[in-house]
Parts: sequence; structure tokens; C-alpha cells
Amino acid sequence: MASANQEAAALLREYAELLGLTGGDPFRARNYERAAKSVAGYPADLATLPDKALTTIDGVGPSIAAKIAESRRTGTFQALEELRAKVPPGVGELAKVPGVGPKRALQLVRELGITSTAELAEAIRRGRLRGVAGFGAKTEERILRGVEVAAGDAALRDALRALPDGAGVDEIYAVLAARLPASAAGAGDQDGTAASAAASVLITTEDIRGDLHTHTSLTDGIVPLEGMIAAAEARGYDYYAVTDHAPNLVMQRMTSEKMLAQRDQLRALADTTGMVLLHGTELNIAPDGSVDWDEDFLSGFDICVASVHSSFEQDRATMTKRFLAAVENPAVNIIGHPLTRKVGRRPPVDVDLDALYAACARTGTALEVNASPDRMDLPPEHIAAARRAGVKFAIDTDAHSLVDLTNLRYGVAAARFGGLTTEDVINAWPLPRLQDFLRKGRPRR
Ligand SMILES: [Zn+2]
Ligand SMILES: [Zn+2]
Repeated sequence: MASANQEAAALLREYAELLGLTGGDPFRARNYERAAKSVAGYPADLATLPDKALTTIDGVGPSIAAKIAESRRTGTFQALEELRAKVPPGVGELAKVPGVGPKRALQLVRELGITSTAELAEAIRRGRLRGVAGFGAKTEERILRGVEVAAGDAALRDALRALPDGAGVDEIYAVLAARLPASAAGAGDQDGTAASAAASVLITTEDIRGDLHTHTSLTDGIVPLEGMIAAAEARGYDYYAVTDHAPNLVMQRMTSEKMLAQRDQLRALADTTGMVLLHGTELNIAPDGSVDWDEDFLSGFDICVASVHSSFEQDRATMTKRFLAAVENPAVNIIGHPLTRKVGRRPPVDVDLDALYAACARTGTALEVNASPDRMDLPPEHIAAARRAGVKFAIDTDAHSLVDLTNLRYGVAAARFGGLTTEDVINAWPLPRLQDFLRKGRPRR
């Protein structure tokens, strides 16, 4: 993508982050975050777009357009500089450490003069955080783990980011193979055949018949329903699922009425596309394992992804119980971004993986291979073990924009690293077989 787009997106993203750090209105911060995504995903070079046409970009109103225009002339904008001046140096870096967050970052800078991740790790080791209000032994442990994740995954994140825009599956695979333990690769798993023969049956991008986890501008996507469908059709898919967020993720302001209206809209578009359109949702797995809506409402969806979006720090026993409850739910078909990790930014949740795999295999619930290069979740190093436990997978982009749909190759590279074939991947199956899987053993409707 053109660098003008990335530069403008980076400034807007920073502004959104600083609004969050300085206690600004979260909805306002979200608007800037959304505009940043939109600008990054804008299909043309921003440098060729005149100032007065900036508002034609989704999510860019007059006020954001003015900031972009200003930054094109000066490299920054006034409002951003004002916020930068308010936040002491180091806060931004510390806030990104998993387990720290903006409030604690400010506290660390002000009370202990810590200004970098390295200083933070050193301070914890020397016991300097003891006695600081709000930092117990458990918090310390979690932050230390966060520092390790930030450091350990940073190399993978940087290597993925360094790939050219059009990088193919082989190039992405090479990065994974170089950064992840070889013992976790599953390419030799197929039926004892030689690795070279096995490589020929590993899943390819062309095998994928549809995307089963995508968003629209009804929630935090940036493109309306029709636009996403047209782009999916251009990719040659047989089927396509729209899975906007469910109401318990309150920032998304979803309601039952909006969801049903979207379903009508989707059904009305059925004749305009050669793809079969599936109406779904991305449910939120609550801390106790329950999900949004009752059984009756849920039965109206063609497909349900369910994901953890909160309470990431539960202990292993509680988290495992939470996941198993979701997996056992007859409405839940796919566990989205299963370990909720973000590469270099958020550690995976602590869950008994063997118990999770066994429950998924037993109930016919797929684990997602989330193809976003920021997530890579289920982490590629776990895929082979899950496959050996009998788990099926969905390779999804979790697209929030048109360009996101092209992230599929990251998921396919991860799947190949884990040794997956078309047998293992539900969205490589013909529609009737997929639909059979989605019934989870219930009788045909
Ligand atoms: Zn999600
Ligand atoms: Zn999603």
C-alpha cells in the first residue's frame, strides 16, 4: 500500500491512542481508530487525492480530513502535537506492554521514572514495583510475562511487517519456518508419506471456497455489506459469511433489530451474487462461557463464530471452563482467534489446550486460524497438535476492510506450517459438507 496512506494512518492511530491515554472520549478515540483503518485500507494512493476529496473516504469527516490535509503539508497536525506534549515520554511504549495499559504506564513514569520496556523489566526484577499502589505480585508476574511476549514476538511481528505488500504464501511460510520451532511444524504428519509428497497435499489459497468470519460497517468494519460481498465474489468464493459483532461488545452498539435488518438486506442480495451468502455473527464468550442472545435468536443464524473479547487474565481453570462452555454450546461453530493473542502486543490466554482440542473434536466445533498478520491466532506453532487431536479448522480473514480479505494468504501459510490439508479445513469443503458440519449433529431444519 502507498506510503502516504500508511503515514496518515499512523498519525491518526497515534492520535487515537493518545486520546485513550489522556482520558479522552472513548467513542471519539474509536472514530480516529476507524478512520486510521479506513485510510490504511483505502485502495488508491492518498497522495493523488485532493484535500477536498478526503471526506469521500469511509469514516473521514471534515474534522479528520482537515487533520490529514494539515499533516500532508507539515508532517503532523496541531491537535496531535498538543496531546504528544501532554504525555510524558515513555508512556506510549509502556502502555503497549501486555498487562500494563495506559493508566499503569502513566503511574510508572510519574512514580518511578521508568520510561522504557527494558527499564520496566529491570525494575520488576529488583522489586521496585513492590509497594506501588495497584501493583501486586500477580500484576508483576503478568507484566513480566507481557515484557517477554513483547520481546519474543517482536521479531516475528517485525519479520511479517517487513514482507512486501504482495508477499505470497511461500514467502510468509518462510518467515514462520525461520521464527518458530521446527518441532511445531506439521508438514511431515500426513500418513507417514515423505515430506515432499506431503507438501503437495497441503492446503493452498485456491482450495479455500469462502470466508467465514468477516465484518461490515454495521459494526467496526469500514465497508458496507454490498462492498464486502462484491469483493468476496471477485475472489471467486462459493460462499461467504457476514459475522458482525454481537451486542455484548458494547462499543459496537449492535442490537437485535439491527442484526435482523442486516439479515433481510443479506437475503435480498442473494440473487445478485453467484455466492451463497451465510448470515452469521461473532458472539462474545462472556467470562462464564455464556454468549449473546438466547437459543431461539441464535437458531436464526446460519453460522456463529464465538470469541473472547474480555477478561483475558483469567486463571487456567476458569478460562478452560469458559472455553468448554462455549464449545459445548450447540449454536457455536467456530472459536474465533482462539488464544486472543496479538503478535508482539498481547500474550495468549492461559487455557488447557488439550482439553480445548478434545472438546472441539468431540462437538464438531472448529478452531479458527485467524489470518490477520497482527493476530496469527491459533498460533501456527499449535496447529499441528490440534490437528492430531482431531480438530477441524476455519481459515478466516476477520476482514474489516477490502484489503483485509487478501490476508487469507497469512492464514494459509500458517495452516501449511501446521500441516493442514483440505480434509482439515471446513471452508475448503463444498457447501453441503460445510452445512452438515454447521448443524453440530442437530437434525436438518
Ligand atoms: Zn473478535
Ligand atoms: Zn471479528
